[in-house]
Amino acid sequence: MAVDVLKRIPVREQDPKVRATNFEEVCYGYNQEEAMNEASRCIGCKQDKAKCITGCPVNINIPGFIAEVKEGNFEAAFKVIGESSALPAICGRVCPQESQCEGKCIRGLKGEPVSIGKLERFVADWAKENGIKPVPADSMNGKKVAVIGSGPAGLTCAGDLAKLGYDVTIFEALHKAGGVLSYGIPEFRLPKDAVVAKEIENVKSLGVKIETNVIIGKSVTIDELLEDEGFEAVFIGSGAGLPMFMNIPGENANGVFSANEYLTRNNLMKAFRDDYATPIARGKKVAVVGGGNVAMDAARTALRLGAEVHVIYRRSEEELPARKEEVHHAKEEGIIFDLLTNPTEILVDENGWVKGIKCIKMELGEPDASGRRRPVAVEGSDFEIEVDTVIMSLGTSPNPLISSTTIGLDTNKRKCIVANEDNGQTSKTAVFAGGDAVTGAATVILAMGAGKAAAKGIHEFLSNK
Ligand SMILES: Cc1cc2nc3c(=O)[nH]c(=O)nc-3n(C[C@H](O)[C@H](O)[C@H](O)COP(=O)(O)OP(=O)(O)OC[C@H]3O[C@@H](n4cnc5c(N)ncnc54)[C@H](O)[C@@H]3O)c2cc1C
Ligand code: SF4
Repeated sequence: MAVDVLKRIPVREQDPKVRATNFEEVCYGYNQEEAMNEASRCIGCKQDKAKCITGCPVNINIPGFIAEVKEGNFEAAFKVIGESSALPAICGRVCPQESQCEGKCIRGLKGEPVSIGKLERFVADWAKENGIKPVPADSMNGKKVAVIGSGPAGLTCAGDLAKLGYDVTIFEALHKAGGVLSYGIPEFRLPKDAVVAKEIENVKSLGVKIETNVIIGKSVTIDELLEDEGFEAVFIGSGAGLPMFMNIPGENANGVFSANEYLTRNNLMKAFRDDYATPIARGKKVAVVGGGNVAMDAARTALRLGAEVHVIYRRSEEELPARKEEVHHAKEEGIIFDLLTNPTEILVDENGWVKGIKCIKMELGEPDASGRRRPVAVEGSDFEIEVDTVIMSLGTSPNPLISSTTIGLDTNKRKCIVANEDNGQTSKTAVFAGGDAVTGAATVILAMGAGKAAAKGIHEFLSNK
């Protein structure tokens, strides 16, 4: 097949009408021929000059792995990616490549950038299907490290330390490992058994132990881990799981959920499946308030559960923080976007259930501190939308349990743990941190980058002890 170097090899996806009624994965990914053809579009910029590498927060040798894909050497490609990333099948699916590696790809100057994310996904899936595993350390060094949280930050830190010979135990509060990958991002974007569980198995194959149902700060404290349990260092990757609300009238009504709770019921506790007993509100008309990835996931989940869904966002489409691909998919599936609109009250019936949402129209004013134009209410433009369920998706902050039970651990005014960006060191000796617990809600790859930096920091600290 002749390849038009200016255009991407299209990726096959489930038909929007069909997928709006099921929870199966939207995107099918590339097959071998498609992957090799797409790889042939890469001009193989020199490693020290390749802009895509600088755009990747964990600096994957992108031209290196793509060159192997082009030749059909998929195992070699997997090894190149594995030098920098422990979770490629996940990153290939959920990373915001358009603003990272692909956003910098030289091919994008004239034509479409190389589909780096889809190629990464192809390589990781191929390795999974062919039973290729990462290589564990030759010998152990006898030093114990505790990792709190099994999200991308914790898994990456644990995997990197295990490769260096450390005896690593991850303590996870929930009954299942994976953090947001397991409880937040829906099955139709990130399959749990076929992808997330398999990548966690890879980390475990390096020797990492995972203890679930252990809440650090309740079951045991960080000080106890260090003083009584023989751990020489601790990494905190506990994420930012505490939802924010608008504090508007009616927000306590029955039928109002945080996106976190709504998605956890579906993803972790499988409420969408008939063979699970988890209850879920199958609203007929659902409003999702917010415009990020989490809002898109909640909206598309509600749609799949049979609702008409309105996304209510106070700025315009240009400012929607969700990935463009997610917005595109949501629109294709029939989600209604009420933009430049802000809720002012949730309307409640005589039995305490949601019956509607009162909103006001907004217009964009001068840029605010974030550089985005500030939404300003248009006086007298109030209107009501009839809905029976409201899902609040306004962001999250770190749970204060760990910081409030750990002596000498500094946090900032947003309740995020203060840690050095280069090595994860916190204000407390032997305690390191990274991911959403430090930055507030961010991305999978940034959490992985922080886990990597902290693994290096912990290794340096314990090597010099
Ligand atoms: C619905 C949703 C969709 C998203 N979509 C995307 C996307 O498309 N692309 C993207 O890049 N990012 C996305 N994100 C953001 C991304 O998932 C997070 O930035 C990332 O998971 C943060 O990783 P983490 O390891 O820091 O924390 P988490 O993934 O939150 O993991 C933290 C873990 O720590 C555990 N924990 C917390 N407290 C304790 C305790 N006291 N003791 C023991 N364990 C504890 C938690 O149970 C959890 O398992 C999304 C987030 C959500 C919620
Ligand atoms: S910038 Fe684009 S073309 Fe250059 S090496 Fe990276 S992926 Fe290939």
